[in-house]
Amino acid sequence: MNDAPLLKVQNVSKHFQMKSSFVDKYLLRKQNTVKAVSNVSFEIKQGETLGLIGESGCGKSTLGRVILRLHEPTRGKVCFGDEEVTALKHNQLKKIKRKMQIIFQDPYASLNPRLPVEDIVSLPLKIHESMNRNEMDEKVVDMIQRVGLKKEHLKRYPHQFSGGQRQRIGIARALILQPEFVVCDEPVSALDVSIQAQIVQLMGKLKEELSLTFLFISHDISVVAYLSDRIAVMYLGEIVEIGEVKEILNNPIHPYTKILLDAIPQVEHVGVHKRIVLKGDIPSPLSPPSGCKFHTRCPTAKEKCCVEMPVLREFASSHWVACHM
Ligand code: SF4
Repeated sequence: MNDAPLLKVQNVSKHFQMKSSFVDKYLLRKQNTVKAVSNVSFEIKQGETLGLIGESGCGKSTLGRVILRLHEPTRGKVCFGDEEVTALKHNQLKKIKRKMQIIFQDPYASLNPRLPVEDIVSLPLKIHESMNRNEMDEKVVDMIQRVGLKKEHLKRYPHQFSGGQRQRIGIARALILQPEFVVCDEPVSALDVSIQAQIVQLMGKLKEELSLTFLFISHDISVVAYLSDRIAVMYLGEIVEIGEVKEILNNPIHPYTKILLDAIPQVEHVGVHKRIVLKGDIPSPLSPPSGCKFHTRCPTAKEKCCVEMPVLREFASSHWVACHM
């Protein structure tokens, strides 16, 4: 792994403005803002996998899309190598997008049902490369075999495949341009557990073979831990803990991380282990709690937590935590 950061995310926020209803306008009520991502910063080194975990709705996927400029950030900047992605104009952005790709969560919805696999996988080459038909066919066959499918699958349509095979097609499409960095947005959460393991192993193999750098997004900490070098824990749009995988697994500090780890099913815990259960649902990002956003569900919250927002502080070498306690 190269020590130079390939990706730098600096103070990135993404807010969505909700449309006001007629009644809101009539009563001059202020517009509602969904604060999906708030002031997030981190770096990913070349060849590294950073796992990003948190509950559904905490802003993980929005952050992944902001990094790729599929959403414009409200504040902050994203740098890829020497380029500031958030400042690029349309045609410069197109050049850098061939180096930054995404694998989507839903292998059913992300593939065009009207196109055969060869057209789906070759489409990025047609957009970004100028190569003849033979070169293109060679590349497509090589990639489809790398992801564990066969040459004869290229003529088939997405509905003729299982969920795991469709995700393999999605991975082939994302990697056909030989990108340097890939946002993996919950790539296994729509799959059966037995298939999840195969896809995670495949992604680990491809990462080594093609020297890839991953931001691996998931709500399942055990999946993230298998592939990642470091883990960042996100809650309601903010990073609350970040560190090396071993450090986070063996020495979690933030109460939310502890609860996520405690929720991993373990055979030796059956019938004897009393779990710490997370109370209630994640609060709405339309009106997040004051102070520490986790205080409404935190088992160790104190008075200070309700009024003062904790900032990320280095607890141990490369292990950062945002918690007053
Ligand atoms: Fe819990 Fe307070 Fe720490 Fe927030 S700052 S996680 S409420 S102890």
